[in-house]
Amino acid sequence: MSISELHRRIKACRICVEEPIGNPLPHEPRPVAVLSRKARLMIIGQAPGTRVHASGKPFSDPSGDRLRDWMGIGEDIFYDSDKLSIAPMGFCFPGLDAKGGDLPPRKECSTYWQPQILEAMPQIELILLIGTYAQKFYMKDNAAKTMTDTVKNWRSVYNESTNPKLLPLPHPSWRNSGWLKRNLWFDAEVLPELRKEVARLL
Ligand code: SF4
Repeated sequence: MSISELHRRIKACRICVEEPIGNPLPHEPRPVAVLSRKARLMIIGQAPGTRVHASGKPFSDPSGDRLRDWMGIGEDIFYDSDKLSIAPMGFCFPGLDAKGGDLPPRKECSTYWQPQILEAMPQIELILLIGTYAQKFYMKDNAAKTMTDTVKNWRSVYNESTNPKLLPLPHPSWRNSGWLKRNLWFDAEVLPELRKEVARLL
């Protein structure tokens, strides 16, 4: 399937409204994804939050600012679909829980769309797996019990994965600011290698 046709189908998707697993999506779907036939690098994150749901632009929020800083690139490159593809585990904002936090990404989405995305983009050489949902989906039993342990094991994950290679990262949300302060090895050890890989692939 061509990228444009896949993109058209994703934009028209209503699975979580018409055939949901459990409660239906509490609003009209607004899928957010950047697909590409040229990009060699792909980001697979969690799901849009309220800001991205409103803007329709992935990572157009403080998480995106932090992620771009981690990658050592600006918005011009980040939003260039010839260089970077962005396909979260859930394309639509999943809604809020009773405490006002984001619900998990919709399972229907990753199960249905992720295999089609990989098939349509065989040129992807590296996937940045951002957060636990993406790590568990792509790494399966190789994901550690905690996100911290999975990310600590990044070098083995990278070395042992092929076609595409995988690199697990924490979510760049402000909610992980404490985690970043407690795990200074991430800044010292992982980010320089991440920036090198990003520079190589862009
Ligand atoms: S979250 Fe994914 S599967 Fe659900 S309606 Fe949106 S695009 Fe479709």
